[in-house]
Amino acid sequence: MEIVDIKGKTHNIDCIACSIQNGTIQLPIERIAETDNFVAEQDLEYPIEGFVIIASKRHVLSIDEMNDTELTELTKFLHDLRKVMRSALKISYVTVIQEENTSTSHFHIWLFPWHPWMLKRWKGKVQEVKEIMDYARREMKTQNQLDIVRKSVDELKKAL
Ligand SMILES: [Zn+2]
Repeated sequence: MEIVDIKGKTHNIDCIACSIQNGTIQLPIERIAETDNFVAEQDLEYPIEGFVIIASKRHVLSIDEMNDTELTELTKFLHDLRKVMRSALKISYVTVIQEENTSTSHFHIWLFPWHPWMLKRWKGKVQEVKEIMDYARREMKTQNQLDIVRKSVDELKKAL
C-alpha cells in the first residue's frame, strides 16, 4: 500500500504498524508506553484524548497466534492502560475493539474513550465509534486540540 508520511513523502509499504515500529515511516503518532512485545500509541490523526491503540511488535493478525508470554503481557498492559485512562484522564467508559479483516494485517486493539461531550450527541455504542473518529479527524485537528491531546499523552505516561 502507499502511504504519505509527515514530511509529505510517499512510501510503498507492506504493513503500516511494522513500518512505524521499525522507523521506515514517520506518522503523527505519540508513543504512550511499550512492553517487550507491545506498544501503546496515540494517533494524532484522531485527536481524541485517551484514544489509545495497542499494537503487537510482532507481525501477527490474531490473538490466537500469540504465545503465553505475549498473552500475559497483553492482559496486564490492557489493564494498566485502562486504569490510567480512568485515574489520569477521568474516562468512565471505554469501548474495546479488535478487528480482523482483509484490510487489517497487524494485531491492534482500540481503547476508545467516551467523553462527556460525545455522550451529549451519541449514545456510547460500538457502531458510533467510526463516525466519531471521522468527526474528530475532520473537525478537531486544531493546534489547540493537538496540544491538549499531547498533554493527555504525558498525563498517561506519568500515571503508568
Ligand atoms: Zn506488521
